[in-house]
Amino acid sequence: MDFRLTDEQSALRESVRDFAREVVAPVIAEHYERHTFPYEVIRQMGKMGLFGLPFDEEHGGMGGDYFALCLALEELARVDSSVAITLEAAVSLGAMPIYRFGTEEQKATWLPRLLSGEALAGFGLTEPGTGSDAGGTQTRAVLDGDEWVINGSKAFITNSGTDITAMVTVTAVTGTNPDGSKELSTIIVPTGTPGFTVAPGYSKVGWTASDTHELTFDDCRVPAANLLGARGRGFAQFLRILDEGRIAIAALAVGLAQGCVDESIRYAKERHAFGRPIGDNQAIQFKIADMELKAHTARLAYYDAAARMLAGEPFKRQAAIAKLHASTIAVDNAREATQIHGGYGFMNEYPVARFWRDSKILEIGEGTSEVQRMIIARDLGL
Ligand SMILES: Cc1cc2nc3c(=O)[nH]c(=O)nc-3n(C[C@H](O)[C@H](O)[C@H](O)COP(=O)(O)OP(=O)(O)OC[C@H]3O[C@@H](n4cnc5c(N)ncnc54)[C@H](O)[C@@H]3O)c2cc1C
Repeated sequence: MDFRLTDEQSALRESVRDFAREVVAPVIAEHYERHTFPYEVIRQMGKMGLFGLPFDEEHGGMGGDYFALCLALEELARVDSSVAITLEAAVSLGAMPIYRFGTEEQKATWLPRLLSGEALAGFGLTEPGTGSDAGGTQTRAVLDGDEWVINGSKAFITNSGTDITAMVTVTAVTGTNPDGSKELSTIIVPTGTPGFTVAPGYSKVGWTASDTHELTFDDCRVPAANLLGARGRGFAQFLRILDEGRIAIAALAVGLAQGCVDESIRYAKERHAFGRPIGDNQAIQFKIADMELKAHTARLAYYDAAARMLAGEPFKRQAAIAKLHASTIAVDNAREATQIHGGYGFMNEYPVARFWRDSKILEIGEGTSEVQRMIIARDLGL
């Protein structure tokens, strides 16, 4: 057992760390404040190959693996989570379903642009009336000749409305299974298809420089060939995508938690009270030591889940543990980092204020903490 990074992994981590500090950090506060999408940063991430990290070169990827993606997400989130979630959703929710389940024709059509970061894709699972209970999907798709006709709506879909969004994959009820349950399938809907409407962006508490929209489908017609994988496989597909995605979200949460440690150390050395740096007080030192402890153990949890996934072993429970633990400690660290910053921690110009606002969604998106506990309990045979 060896959790040390290879030279190649270390080099990737260093280059993303430098990029986050030199390119993301100087501009992100303004995007965050104005709720604007950082197109130029995303373009540069594309040039670095980040959108192609876990994909093979044959399809335009970088020939890395999912762990490489996680390392990049951690380093980005250490500085900013809006940029990190844009990459996470683009790769793990946008391109990955096409890569895993698409036909060669679908891959040839979509992957070159998605893997270069030139285009983004969204993953439409959640609906206004159902999130955790994804089996409760109401959106319907009916085959009419050689076209699917889609009706319904999707809520909170990341990367679905940028100027460079090329398509969304949508889960829809396409029939009834022999046991009476809903037959769910996944269908590709290109941006601009008549009947597909993207609502204005939500006003969010955090991740304000990322792109999130409600989508509606009103007699939206796409070719029958836009079915992703086999008909009726929608449920299995999104379970797989979400299991993997949880490891990526855990990495992102660890990055945020580590960013809180970075900022707290810096501030504890700079800020003076009662005639000495606040970091000279053991009460502050212990807070930071506990924050480091939490980031470190959460990192080990996602490394373990990623290692199992890449070894082809079962990893569902470990991915849920990693996501649950990392999101919990990210919220803890954001709260403590804000506390260490005193009144300045409540000012948006300080990165810890952004960390605090960005941390809560980690306990909600890609499966709430309650859902992670359900997954772990089920895997334990309960
Ligand atoms: C910024 C943002 C981006 C997102 N991006 C995407 C995206 O790109 N694609 C996508 O498909 N979705 C996306 N989502 C949706 C997200 O995954 C859901 O919000 C999440 O899964 C929770 O679903 P819900 O909001 O419907 O909550 P609900 O499922 O209604 O849950 C409400 C509460 O009830 C709890 N609960 C539900 N069932 C149980 C139970 N059986 N036992 C105990 N507690 C339970 C939940 O844990 C939660 O606390 C995004 C959400 C946000 C906010």
